[in-house]
Amino acid sequence: MNKNDQTIRAVHLRVDLSEVTGKLIQYMKEGLAPLGVNTLIIEFNPGYDFKCFPELANGTFGRTDAQKVAAAAKETGIRIVPLFMCLGHQGWRFQKNTLLKAHPEFDETPDMPEDGDAENTPDLVFYCHSWCASNDDVYKYVFPMIDEIMTDFETDCLHVGMDEVFSLANENCPRCKGKNRAELFARTVNILHDHIVTEKGWQMMMWADRLNHAEVCGYHAWEGDTFGTWQAVDKIPNDILLADWHYEMNEKGFPGIGVFVEKGFTVIPAAWRELKQTQFLLDEALKYERLAKEKGAKGRVAGMMITCWHTANAELLDELLTSLKEHIQDEDDKSIRGIASSIVYITEKLKE
Ligand SMILES: [Zn+2]
Repeated sequence: MNKNDQTIRAVHLRVDLSEVTGKLIQYMKEGLAPLGVNTLIIEFNPGYDFKCFPELANGTFGRTDAQKVAAAAKETGIRIVPLFMCLGHQGWRFQKNTLLKAHPEFDETPDMPEDGDAENTPDLVFYCHSWCASNDDVYKYVFPMIDEIMTDFETDCLHVGMDEVFSLANENCPRCKGKNRAELFARTVNILHDHIVTEKGWQMMMWADRLNHAEVCGYHAWEGDTFGTWQAVDKIPNDILLADWHYEMNEKGFPGIGVFVEKGFTVIPAAWRELKQTQFLLDEALKYERLAKEKGAKGRVAGMMITCWHTANAELLDELLTSLKEHIQDEDDKSIRGIASSIVYITEKLKE
């Protein structure tokens, strides 16, 4: 079967420590593979031990670990999709990541103090730092980092993040002031696509939240956009895999999935840690996949992803593995056991 036609049963995990490599491989071999998980998104946000720019490294997980994981991936038939956060989430809240610390010239809001009062600043006023969408020198650093991770894992699909980008077209940025948010967002996607897809021949995946029209879909300002950025959806190539995350119930359903499919995108809805919500989102996904076939839409719903926003350590991986082996279905737990329950549920439901 062509990998593009395969039903995607995906799990997401954050990794930055070399010492978890053994447990991660055990989790893949004994937990994920037996259930039929065929895609593992490993997020390095930002924790990777980069060789290309050692000054930008801030994790201990690096090439040797990646090669071990890549070997386990081949053995188990799991496709590794590294996640490298682009544009937004360049640090957490007021804190800057290593890239912006080393290169303040790439910061969209360089004057925002690192010791800013995150607790009393509403998320939508200032959430996290972005790199400047108009300073293309950033790619002199971003592309080598991306290429290094992709080479280390010997893989062919990259997730570029791009969720929750609020810091964009800032009025104090001399390069971006007055520019259109959707244009700047789409411009960034297209620059990344040119490198990742056109030049390298890899697939590109991204979070879909900024492309959802929140008001029309009945979404909140996290899973959909309220600032006009959503209009970028018509300015980017539709061969990008859209990971459309929704972590709360919505009685109106998730119509944005249908919008993406009609525009020709391949959509992978993503749930998190609440079994009932996962079940509902998967029902919605399957509904829109049926509708797409009936209407002869160009796009499709390709499967489902379960996210895990804890950074991997031995304890977490042990608990996930134990729960998966038990084929847990816990409706009340909204933590690790809830995540494992969601993984078990989607893999059983999406068995071919
Ligand atoms: Zn800017």
